[in-house]
Amino acid sequence: MKALAKTRPGPGLELIETEVPKPGPHDVLIRVTATSICGTDVHIYRWDHWSQQRIHPPLILGHEFAGEIVAVGEAVQGLEVGMPVSAEGHIVDHTCAACRAGQLHLCQNAQVIGIDRPGAFAEYVCVPAENVWVNAPDVPPEIASLQDPFGNAVHAVYAFDLAGQSVLISGCGPIGLMAIPVARVAGARLIVATDPNAQRLKLAQRMGADLVLDPTREDVVRKIQELTGDGVDVVLEMSGAPAAIQTAFAALRSGGKVAALGLTAEPVALDWNELIVLKGATVQGIYGRKIWDTWHRMRALLQTGAVDLSPLITHRLPLSAYETAFGLLMEPGSELVAKVILYPNGMD
Ligand SMILES: [Zn+2]
Ligand SMILES: [Zn+2]
Repeated sequence: MKALAKTRPGPGLELIETEVPKPGPHDVLIRVTATSICGTDVHIYRWDHWSQQRIHPPLILGHEFAGEIVAVGEAVQGLEVGMPVSAEGHIVDHTCAACRAGQLHLCQNAQVIGIDRPGAFAEYVCVPAENVWVNAPDVPPEIASLQDPFGNAVHAVYAFDLAGQSVLISGCGPIGLMAIPVARVAGARLIVATDPNAQRLKLAQRMGADLVLDPTREDVVRKIQELTGDGVDVVLEMSGAPAAIQTAFAALRSGGKVAALGLTAEPVALDWNELIVLKGATVQGIYGRKIWDTWHRMRALLQTGAVDLSPLITHRLPLSAYETAFGLLMEPGSELVAKVILYPNGMD
């Protein structure tokens, strides 16, 4: 089969020819219909400091995907050839303290598809049956392939009760953008989205934000105080940018809540007293997707049509055009680039 791999340490990827994986007794083999490129894949493509520490080539990349089951291991029950599926990318050990507390998404020994084991930028991917999620048949594969990042957004939105609340979405990358319509469904009365990129702000408007603000042109904190009086009730911090984190906490009302998802490149300094203690702020870190609570919510949101992710798919390419795809994500220029979908088994 064809697969897109990091074959050796250093920047770039290579399209290779390799064996179709053989499913073990507890695995399923999936023919990949659509796979989307994540920011994590771009880090690995560039071979940045994080990737050099974390990734051990050779490795087939890719963890956001949808496909169809083509083979099941002999011990697998409840899954059959032909089912449309995606997978939770975190393979957990079920034995660490977090797992035993029912917080599988926080497993300390998780193995990640496309990071620690072969991924979905390939014609076929093999995953443990317990990680398989059966997709609703009426959800198109390219939309179903977005459930990994969409799950991050859904997890963050449902961290706090947003009914009747004012919400700041700090950072309009794909996950921030996905959070906008979900926050609306969850009952937010005011959704403000911030990002320094004008293209992303346009998309934020299209996804349903009430107000979009460019922090390089406007005083976000003042604007939010004018609108709300005391600041926003809830912040969804999706950027991981130190300046945006400062602004988000400053724009938070006393007693407000922060769901923090964006990862920073370096440790960040915050005024602990003013922004957390004296403010009585609640901060919840958001990692991964709750297994399977988040997935059930996603199914409902996608299947009912309550959330439409299609405006976020800006590019569709065959797997072989990977250099163009990664180029778009690394150097978008003035072009609007959100999610880029690759089709390992052809585009029709
Ligand atoms: Zn991802
Ligand atoms: Zn665990």
